[in-house]
Amino acid sequence: RQQAALAAKEQPATTQDDHNVEVVANIGGIKDATKSVEVGGEGVGLLRSEFLYLDRVTEPTEQEQYEIYRDVLLELGPERPLIVRTLDVGGDKPLAYLPLPEEENPFLGLRGIRIGLDRPTLLRKQARAILRASEHGRIRIMFPMIANLAELRLAKQVVEEERVKLGVEPIEIGIMVEVPSTAVLAEQFAPEVDFFSIGSNDLSQYTLAMDRGHPKLAAFVDGLNPAVLSLIKMTADAAHRHGKWAGVCGGIASDPQAVPLLVGLGIDELSVSVPVLPEIKAQIRQLSLADCQTLATQALALTDAKEVRALVPVVD
Ligand code: PEP
Ligand code: MG
Repeated sequence: RQQAALAAKEQPATTQDDHNVEVVANIGGIKDATKSVEVGGEGVGLLRSEFLYLDRVTEPTEQEQYEIYRDVLLELGPERPLIVRTLDVGGDKPLAYLPLPEEENPFLGLRGIRIGLDRPTLLRKQARAILRASEHGRIRIMFPMIANLAELRLAKQVVEEERVKLGVEPIEIGIMVEVPSTAVLAEQFAPEVDFFSIGSNDLSQYTLAMDRGHPKLAAFVDGLNPAVLSLIKMTADAAHRHGKWAGVCGGIASDPQAVPLLVGLGIDELSVSVPVLPEIKAQIRQLSLADCQTLATQALALTDAKEVRALVPVVD
């Protein structure tokens, strides 16, 4: 099966009833970008830009960042989009050169975009590097951990100010949907973004109030929980009402049991880990959108992830 998937890697992920799903890659650097193209990836749905900052004693310069984004774009070529997520650290991920106060509840503290807004020069520099790289391909910017509209507007303002200074064309701006408040209010976010990308790892941990890394609880932090699926549906529906698209870049996008549900809930783009990418594309080609929609409706009526997993056929 793996070999058949690889042989058909360049074929689009179009269901039996002619519904297309974009299948792109989650990457952590240039090597993954190259690999993603080799296996038929249609772009990058999540560049975790943290790798540029972690394990360093000084902040990366704007020029260093620009060169990396440019090189990734050159690997992807002119057609494939690249979504760069702005720095997503804080909480349990410290930065050597950025003194952050110790917090009692790091996952509920200063992390993601909250750091970007608290230290605007960090975000400003990164935005400039991304905007400068835009002449080399289809680059998009995405903010992590957005929890309210005020944060989105402030972050967009930073990007717009730097864009005007640089005199470049606007780029598409999206947000991670990984905090329940944002999924619940997706209808209000949709007019102000170009796209949503659902971070189901964090969305599950915040919806279920369970630490995704907890040794005893992590197994229950499952994005197939109907509460999480319901938030995914709200997000996709709101996006579509406003002519926008919604993707998933959390771990469930790479889970064959979740794929039919996500397609059925109206997800337009799956950003998956590189090694499984051809198989996810091959799986979608075997599905029918109509069946996926029926399955999703059934899943939403269940009470926990275990029941949902019992409902969905296992692909082997
Ligand atoms: C997520 O939360 O689902 C996500 C993709 O972001 P990360 O795993 O990097 O927190
Ligand atoms: Mg996350």
